[in-house]
Amino acid sequence: MLTLTFLGTGSAFARRNFQSNALIEAWADSPASQAVPDDIMLLDFGSTGPRALFQLIQKQEFAYLQGQGRNHGRADYGRIKKLFVTHLHADHVGGVEEFAVLNRYASSESREASRAFQPALIAAQDVMERIWTNTLCGGLGAMNGRAATIDDYFDVQPVSRVDDACGSFEVGRGYTASVFATDHVRIKEKYDWPSYGLIFGDDRTGETVLFSGDTRFDPQEMRPRFENATTIFHDVLLESQEGALHASIEQLQTLPQDIRGKMTLYHYGDNWDDPSFDFVSREFAGFAEPQRRYTLFA
Ligand SMILES: [Zn+2]
Ligand SMILES: [Zn+2]
Repeated sequence: MLTLTFLGTGSAFARRNFQSNALIEAWADSPASQAVPDDIMLLDFGSTGPRALFQLIQKQEFAYLQGQGRNHGRADYGRIKKLFVTHLHADHVGGVEEFAVLNRYASSESREASRAFQPALIAAQDVMERIWTNTLCGGLGAMNGRAATIDDYFDVQPVSRVDDACGSFEVGRGYTASVFATDHVRIKEKYDWPSYGLIFGDDRTGETVLFSGDTRFDPQEMRPRFENATTIFHDVLLESQEGALHASIEQLQTLPQDIRGKMTLYHYGDNWDDPSFDFVSREFAGFAEPQRRYTLFA
C-alpha cells in the first residue's frame, strides 16, 4: 500500500493551514497491520513543515515518528529516509536546513550508528544543481572547525533523465515516482525555471496517481496524465490573477467532469471555506484535507 498525508494543504502564504508538503508512506501490508511503514519520504519540506510535522505526530497513527530524549517530542527525522524536493520556493524547501541539522546531530539513526545519518535527498538534476548554492549553503555551509558541503548532510540522489523524460525513482517496493517538469515560474518561457511534479505508479497494476507540484494551468501537457490517473492532486489558486504561477479555480473548472471528479485541490488560500467555494465539493473531488492519510494504492 502507498499512502499520502498532507502536512498542510495551504498556499505559500496561508496562515490557517500549513504549506502544502506531504508525507509518503509505503507499506508491505497496511497501516492496520503495521505500526511503522517500510519506506517513508517527505515530499517537500517548507518553512512551516517542522511545525506541521510536530502537529501530525501528535496523532496516534503518526506517533511512530516521535523522537525520544533530546528531541523533546520533536519528530525523529532519522526515521524519514528520503526527501524529494519539487522546486526551490521557501514553502517547499524552507524546512530543509532544520531537517539536515537535526538528522546530523539529533536523530536516533545518527546516535545508533555513531556517525551522522544522511537521508537521501532526491530531486531533478537542475534542482539539485541549485539547492546547495541557492538555498542551503548559507546556513549549512560551515560547521565547527571546517567548511561543509551538501555531502556532509545528505546522500545526494539526482534523478537522472532518460531520453526526453525527467526520470524516476523507487518508493518502497513496487512503486515508482516519475518526475515531470511543471510550468511554474517563467523567466522568459515555459519550463525555463526548474520545478517538478510527480506521477506515482503501482508497478503491479499500472495505476497512476498524479501530484501536480506547483504549476500553472497546462492542459496541453497535463491532459494525457489526467486521463491516465486514477487520482489527481492539483494545486489551485482561488482568485484569478494575471500571470499567476498556479492554476486558477476557473481554469480547472474548464476540464471535463470525469477529470474534475477525481481531482482533489490543494495549495489553497485561507478563504477556501467561504460559502462561495461550496461548488468545489460538487464539481471536484473536493479540497484536500490536511493531516488525513490518503490511500494512493491499496
Ligand atoms: Zn508552493
Ligand atoms: Zn512554487
